[in-house]
Amino acid sequence: MIVGILKESGTEKRVAMLPGEVSALKRLGAEVIAENGAGERAFASDDDYRAAGAVITSRKEVIEKASALLSVDHLPEPELPLCNEGKILCSVLNPVENVEWLEKARSLKLTVLALDLIPRTTRAQSMDILSSMATVSGYKAVLHAASVSPKFFPMFMSAAGTIKPSRVLILGAGVAGLQAIAVARKLGAVVEVFDVRSAVKEEVKSLGGKFIEVEGAKEDAAAGGYAVEQTEEFRKKQQELIQQRAIAADVVIATAQIPGKKAPLLIFKETVKKMKPGSIIVDLAASTGGNCELTENGKTIVAGGVTIIGKSDYPSDMPADASKMFGSNIINLLKIMISKEGNLALDMQDEIINGTAAVHGGEYISQRVKQMLNIKQT
Ligand code: NAD
Repeated sequence: MIVGILKESGTEKRVAMLPGEVSALKRLGAEVIAENGAGERAFASDDDYRAAGAVITSRKEVIEKASALLSVDHLPEPELPLCNEGKILCSVLNPVENVEWLEKARSLKLTVLALDLIPRTTRAQSMDILSSMATVSGYKAVLHAASVSPKFFPMFMSAAGTIKPSRVLILGAGVAGLQAIAVARKLGAVVEVFDVRSAVKEEVKSLGGKFIEVEGAKEDAAAGGYAVEQTEEFRKKQQELIQQRAIAADVVIATAQIPGKKAPLLIFKETVKKMKPGSIIVDLAASTGGNCELTENGKTIVAGGVTIIGKSDYPSDMPADASKMFGSNIINLLKIMISKEGNLALDMQDEIINGTAAVHGGEYISQRVKQMLNIKQT
């Protein structure tokens, strides 16, 4: 099996696999080819890839020769026809945003493994790219907020008097939110947390955060541990409490998401107006609409002295470790796709492959993709 590593385009600095993971892939018996300069923005040179056993070549040759193509973002649409039938494209996809792309890949009978569809099961935990990248985002969001905040995070007792610690409000205690709690606490802030899933209460407490419970949250076991949309009554109650806590906060890290839906709106412009000038909101849900009404995706704005950072691409700002985690997750996925002899052995009955394969052999496969795109196919 030949595995190809592509260079990313645009502002993306990560690479799907660094040389360290290439060595691990070679040990599985695969041949590895990489596009010239694939890892340079993640601080890995072509020579590093060669030393790990990869062959460096042109983009065209990587696309044509590899049986599985690895990239962070999906292959640009004009390049899809360069892929022969049966080729595996392995990247993050966001199927809802890329319906036409996916339809083209299906009609060309390509196999698309959408890494953002990897099931959130115990067996697939080591392949879970969403968790890895959320960890990076939660960490970096707090450091970003601390670096632009006009206040200290920890309490200081100095000859100049006592400085109170910053108050950090975290909305959503999923993977990014929990990481944000841990980092904000390490920096000495007082941390308060909202989530609609009561299951996270103990985790929040064990990290040193204060969980603020709003009674009456709707939880659904069928959502597989994810949040679901809330009733109007709950939303009003939650909004009042969030407003109170946001007004007292110096920093808000907003991470609340509902899979396949627009992010819940939790901070309204009236709340921002009442927040202290100099406060910071980092909205990690910016790409799905944002948790703050004033958030603009990819932009930092200032409203009434409150800085609102709408940023969803923190992993690209930490390309070395984010790429390392990304590549390790892919290796763990490839382990269940490569035979002992190093050949491709794609088992479409395997629940992880089946859940991750958006299209294969001219058919839509993943149930989640079929649901998201409303495809009536068995
Ligand atoms: P996510 O990015 O979908 O959402 C972030 C958080 O926002 C969640 O905790 C969610 O409950 C919360 N949220 C949603 N609506 C909200 C609202 N109105 N107010 C406040 N908070 C709100 O979440 P995620 O980080 O992807 O994790 C979601 C679930 O997946 C968790 O149960 C997590 O334990 C689970 N998970 C499992 C695995 C695995 O087993 N392999 C891996 C990662 C995550």
